[in-house]
Amino acid sequence: MLDFAEDFLDCDCESNPYCGHPERKFMRYLLDLRAQGLGPDAIVDVMGDEYLVTAYPGDVLSFLDGSVRTLEAMEDLANVEGDREMEQRVSERKRNLL
Ligand SMILES: [Zn+2]
Repeated sequence: MLDFAEDFLDCDCESNPYCGHPERKFMRYLLDLRAQGLGPDAIVDVMGDEYLVTAYPGDVLSFLDGSVRTLEAMEDLANVEGDREMEQRVSERKRNLL
């Protein structure tokens, strides 16, 4: 079993744990599981196995949904600004989530 506090709450910032980094690390962890092809139910299982964290598939699903929408907004923005590289990176990231 991995240590949740050590992996996510461990941060050298002075404002830790209110610096926002733990949340960002946790989001990245969730998004990585999704990118590996896991669905909300499987993600909840993995989180439970690795960290003894309880979550609900519905929460994971709405989180992923929100992420996709955020990425879509970023994609539009990059498109408007003519930033092809950014647009491509964002759209790749999005494909991994769908
Ligand atoms: Zn921090």
